[in-house]
Amino acid sequence: MKRTFTNKILAEKGSKVQIAGWIATRRDHGKIIFLDVRDMTGTVQVVCSPELAKSLRPEWVVEIEGTVKERPDAMKNSAVETGDIEIAAEKIAVLSEAKTLPFAIDTNGYEIGEEKRLQYRYLDLRRPRLKRNIEIRNRVTQFIREFLVKEGFIEIETPILTKSTPEGARDFLVPSRMYSGKFYALPQSPQQYKQLLQVAGFERYFQIARCFRDEDPRGDRQPEFTQLDIEMSFVEQEDMLRLFEELYTKVVEELFPEKRIIQTPFPRISYKEAMAKWGSDKPDLRKDKSSPNELAFAFIVDFPMFEWKEKEGRWDAVHHPFTRPQTEDIEEVKKDPANVLAYQYDLALNGYEVAGGSLRTYKPEFLRQVLEFMGNTKEEVQEKFGHLFEAFEYGVPPHGGIAAGLERFLAVLLNEPNIREVMVFPKTGDSRDLMMDSPSEISPGQLKELSLEIKKRK
Ligand code: ASP
Repeated sequence: MKRTFTNKILAEKGSKVQIAGWIATRRDHGKIIFLDVRDMTGTVQVVCSPELAKSLRPEWVVEIEGTVKERPDAMKNSAVETGDIEIAAEKIAVLSEAKTLPFAIDTNGYEIGEEKRLQYRYLDLRRPRLKRNIEIRNRVTQFIREFLVKEGFIEIETPILTKSTPEGARDFLVPSRMYSGKFYALPQSPQQYKQLLQVAGFERYFQIARCFRDEDPRGDRQPEFTQLDIEMSFVEQEDMLRLFEELYTKVVEELFPEKRIIQTPFPRISYKEAMAKWGSDKPDLRKDKSSPNELAFAFIVDFPMFEWKEKEGRWDAVHHPFTRPQTEDIEEVKKDPANVLAYQYDLALNGYEVAGGSLRTYKPEFLRQVLEFMGNTKEEVQEKFGHLFEAFEYGVPPHGGIAAGLERFLAVLLNEPNIREVMVFPKTGDSRDLMMDSPSEISPGQLKELSLEIKKRK
C-alpha cells in the first residue's frame, strides 16, 4: 500500500490508508488505546486495540494501516488539522524502537539547558517550535529566490575554499595538502567573487551564501552563518535601497501578515543623525517596544569611510576597503580622512543590523590609492588584491551590493531570543559542535600529509 502523509488524510474519509511516522503520544483507556502519530506534515489520531498497541512507546517509528473515520462530535478537536477524523488501526508494524528521550519535546524547550539541546539537536528539532522555525526559514528563502529571479537576478554559488577577503574578522584557514605551508581561507563573505562576477557581466547576482568568521565569542554570534548576498551593476545607492526595501516589505506582508511595518518607505537616516539622536547606528525605532508585531526598519546612510585604528596606528575602512568614498580625490581623503563619507548603507530593524552594503570603488587607480592610504605597501596591495586590479583593467561596470544576515532577520520575525533558534545545527556560544564533537583532533597521518606539527599550548 502507498503511504499517505497525515495532512492528506482528511480527504480520505472512509478509505483505507497506510501512514508512517513517530508515536508522539499514547493514551491508554483500557479497552482502547489512542496514539498520536507524527510525520513531517503533522499528526493524526489512531485508535487501536490493546493487542495491536501492545508494547508501543513514545517516539517509536511505526507503519499503520487502517480506515479513516469521522470522530464522534464530542471527540472532535478543532485545534488539530486532522481533529475531525481518526484512523481505526488494523495493522501496526514497528519499524524501529526508541529509548526514552533525554528531554521533553512537547514544550517550547527554553527551559532545557542549551548544551543538552545542542548535543541532541536531532531530537530538539522534533520540537514543534523548532520545526516551525526551520519550515518558515525555508519559506522565506524560497520567497527571496522567487522575488529576485523575477527581478532578473541569477543565483550563483561561489567557492568556499578561497583566499582571505577583508570583512574585519579573523579567517578560518584550511591547510593545503598539495602545497605544503599554504592555506586556503574560508570566505568571510563572497565579496570579491561577487565583484568579479560583475566584471564577468552577471549584472544581477545573488546567493544564499554561507560565511565564516573566526571571532571571539561575543553575544549572539556564530562562526558560520548565512547571508543573502546581492551585487548589481550600473546602480546608484537608491536603486539598491529600493530593491531591498521592496523585497523585505514583501517578505513581511506575504509570510508574516500579523506583523506591522511602522514606516514605509523605510526612513533614510544619516549615520551622523543616528549617532546624535540615538547614540547608535542601529537604533530601535519601534513606537511600542513591547509589541511582538511591530517592525521598524531604517536605512542608515552616509557612514564615515574611515576609522582610526589606534592599536595599528592607521586608518581603516569602516565597512570594507572596496566601499566607494563620496569623493574620488585622494588629496581630499588625505587632508581630512575622518570627514570623508562613504556610499555605505546599513539596514536597521528593531535595534539590530540586518543588512549592510555599499557602492564599490571600481576605478583601479583610486582603489589603489585608498588601499595604500590605509597602510598597505604597493607590494601588499598587489599580493592581496592583484587579481582584482587585473580584472578591473578589462572593463568593469560601476557596481554595488548588499548582504543581509538571514538568521538575524528570522530571529526578529519569529520573536526568538537568539539566532541559534533558527539554525538547524548551530554551534555553542564558544564555537563547539557538541553533537559531532567538533573541533576535534586529527590523526598523526593526517598531520603528516598536511606537513603540520602541533605545538601544545603551555
Ligand atoms: N560583504 C559585505 C558584508 O559581508 C556586504 C557587502 O558589502 O555587500 O558585510
